[in-house]
Amino acid sequence: MKKESLFRADLHIHHIRELPLDLLWQQGIRGLLFDLDNTVTAWRSLEVAEETRCFFAALQQRGFRVAIVSNSDRARVAPVGELLDVLALSGAGKPSVRTILHACDQLGLSPGQTAFVGDQLLTDILGANRAGLTSILTDVVHPKEFWGTRYLSRWLERLIHALLLRKDKRTEAKSNS
Ligand SMILES: [Mg+2]
Repeated sequence: MKKESLFRADLHIHHIRELPLDLLWQQGIRGLLFDLDNTVTAWRSLEVAEETRCFFAALQQRGFRVAIVSNSDRARVAPVGELLDVLALSGAGKPSVRTILHACDQLGLSPGQTAFVGDQLLTDILGANRAGLTSILTDVVHPKEFWGTRYLSRWLERLIHALLLRKDKRTEAKSNS
């Protein structure tokens, strides 16, 4: 499905545990890919909250196929994948679609059957949209971030958000005139 803007998430949630699982299932989504830093855990943290562990187990019990797709290195990503008992792919280079599509392949699903959940517009949402997945933006787990993310990416995100809002207002004004 062609998207109107590659920077616009299909859905925005506060926390991964707020994912509308019934709705996603009804829409044919069978796979969920998650970013790691500030989506599943705090930035660079190896600590996984007990609720997060239970949530990942519940997702798989419901029949969702789950994977982590992170730009971080293997030493950081693999232990979390083991802890959550899911496929964990590191060095993804998002917004590149290569590892996102590889994850879908590994789960035996098409991009149309898969959603991507992440906290960053310029990596997660852009990558997911480019690859043809349902894109879900989540708020950060914790405010601590890599300085480049905090000072550059978030500034760009706010700019993109403002531009999208302006576009929406223009479209609305046109349809009302
Ligand atoms: Mg992240």
